[in-house]
Amino acid sequence: MILFKGGWVFDGGGQRLDGHGVLIEGTGIAKVAPLGEFDGFEGEAVDTAGATLMPGLIDCHVHLVYSGHPDPRSTLAKQSPAETTLTALENAQKNLAGGITAVRDCGGKDHLEFAVRDAIGRGIFQGPTIHAAGRMICMTGGHGNSMGRVADGPNEVVKAVREQIHAGCDLVKIMATGGVMTPGVNPEDAHYSAGEMKAGVTEARRFHKRTASHAQGTEGILNAVRAGIHSIEHGIFMTEKCIEEMKEGGVYLVATVSALKNIIANAGNGVPAYAVEKSIRVSEDHQRSVRMFHAAGGKFAMGTDAGTPFNYHGDNALELGHLVDYGLSPSEALVAATAHGADLMGLPDIGRIEAGKQADLLLVEGDPTKDIRMAADKANHRAVYKAGVAVPLGRPAARPARQAAE
Ligand SMILES: [Zn+2]
Repeated sequence: MILFKGGWVFDGGGQRLDGHGVLIEGTGIAKVAPLGEFDGFEGEAVDTAGATLMPGLIDCHVHLVYSGHPDPRSTLAKQSPAETTLTALENAQKNLAGGITAVRDCGGKDHLEFAVRDAIGRGIFQGPTIHAAGRMICMTGGHGNSMGRVADGPNEVVKAVREQIHAGCDLVKIMATGGVMTPGVNPEDAHYSAGEMKAGVTEARRFHKRTASHAQGTEGILNAVRAGIHSIEHGIFMTEKCIEEMKEGGVYLVATVSALKNIIANAGNGVPAYAVEKSIRVSEDHQRSVRMFHAAGGKFAMGTDAGTPFNYHGDNALELGHLVDYGLSPSEALVAATAHGADLMGLPDIGRIEAGKQADLLLVEGDPTKDIRMAADKANHRAVYKAGVAVPLGRPAARPARQAAE
């Protein structure tokens, strides 16, 4: 049993609790209550004075097989499956050390990342909770075709969805439009037809899988939303119509502001020219769309696209600062990265500080509801707990345990 007391608590739902203690017992949160209720407690206590205890952050859009290299596709092409699997494990652990206690992998390679998810799930390695899509489903020549499952026509899309389910996916990722990181396609263009989207999303939902769609252009966003998608990824060219239909359907926006920002900031550092050109071309529209969706009261879940160029696993929390720059309040950004992330993933046991939830916790300096940098910059993280166990901060995977003990 550990009692956290002395500082603030951010509950994940948007409330800051003052003068409360949080008691964890084993892997879970046993009690959250005013400090007086813990009088006489004699177990281990953590003094959180000057800090805020909050739920561990949830990143709803990462790619564990990518590591943030300037041209991740070419790096991946040179790796053996064994190397890629170990890379995915290292990246998962970097997420956790960066305060990210759960991730949604929105597209991997040959289901290698499933082995990482399962090994962490069985407790062989410490890591975040992972939900994985498996191979992203895309059209011939479409965005993601280098490692996705290419499928054309409703029947083949249905088969591609069934393959991911058979392989053990937690969600299905289906590509509605072109994108930045694939040469020769345009973010503005719809890729799958309305009929193909509907077939794929319906099949995923038939087997109770969540669905996410890479959707940047307006027509593709509408195709995905009308097909019954759970989340729109990126959402660059949003219109009033998109926003109205997303709100009606309760569809989340996972904006991944970090992806474009890091490509643009590193133009000239080896990022393919086509990716830089497209990122610059669409970035203002992206900001406009995020602001519109926020002003209209749309629901955000935080996602980064970690693994794309210079968008490093472990630095995911920086997305919180980008969301605030684009109009969210610090509290709203924190909710997007905690309670909303859990809701989108369909994981009611995480994302909130409440009795009965899993003890996935992040302790940060100061009050992140006043200054988002307290949560966004990992230099301000005091501690991370995964299911009640303290996580070594820094780069755990890079240092052998023997050396660490010396
Ligand atoms: Zn992505």
